[in-house]
Amino acid sequence: MSSPAGDAGERRLLDTHCHLDAFPDPLAVLRAATAAGVDVVAVTEDPGSYRLLRTRLGPRTAASLALGFHPLRVGSLTPHDLARFLRLQPQVTWIGEIGLDFSPAGAPTKKQQLRAFDAILAEPIVARRPVTVHSRGAQDTVISRLARAQVPAILHWFTGSTRALHDAVEAGLWFSVNRAMTRSAKGTALLRRLPRDRVLLETDGPYCLDSGRPFAPVDLGRVVEDLALIWGEPRDYVRATICDNQDRLLARCGP
Ligand code: MN
Repeated sequence: MSSPAGDAGERRLLDTHCHLDAFPDPLAVLRAATAAGVDVVAVTEDPGSYRLLRTRLGPRTAASLALGFHPLRVGSLTPHDLARFLRLQPQVTWIGEIGLDFSPAGAPTKKQQLRAFDAILAEPIVARRPVTVHSRGAQDTVISRLARAQVPAILHWFTGSTRALHDAVEAGLWFSVNRAMTRSAKGTALLRRLPRDRVLLETDGPYCLDSGRPFAPVDLGRVVEDLALIWGEPRDYVRATICDNQDRLLARCGP
């Protein structure tokens, strides 16, 4: 028996940023999502975990696997890992989580992060793949780098200033929205200003919490309900808008 959201004819939502490998049972999380009409992009933090997850999920998995190089992992990764990332990059369908983090947690590795991010953006393939990008404390640098490389990436859990938002829109970037954003005053204010044709969804599960529990892709529809309230629009309008956006993003990123 399928849930209402999984009924034939209903368009599927896409969780563009989920740390599937950080859930205790990734396969169960994926099965529940698939049955509920939610497709999942499983981001990774380095090429080693990408390969592990690929093996674990198997060749016919319903998930889209994303090859990552997380800014907060850069300190423990080597030039060999970066070379491995660049070698794998042409074969993958999604890229992420990549990006920069200049918050206190990331500040000590700022130089290494920039070196890795620039090396990744220098490969032409990255402009032809959907890319999900982390930008905490580094929004201006991330946006200007993506604009220069002409990579129309998705800014995940964006929390930048109004000016940064303007620059990101000018650069053709997308925004993936999670439940922490729809449930906070700052996030809600930002969501009212986002161009609706650039909005996508994410859970950032299990790191993003929903009422104290890890937010899982099976519940992604809750973000649609939140957005309907914030935008003051019917739920069906929000869902159709998001689905149109997903289609445009993926159509742009052909083979
Ligand atoms: Mn993440």
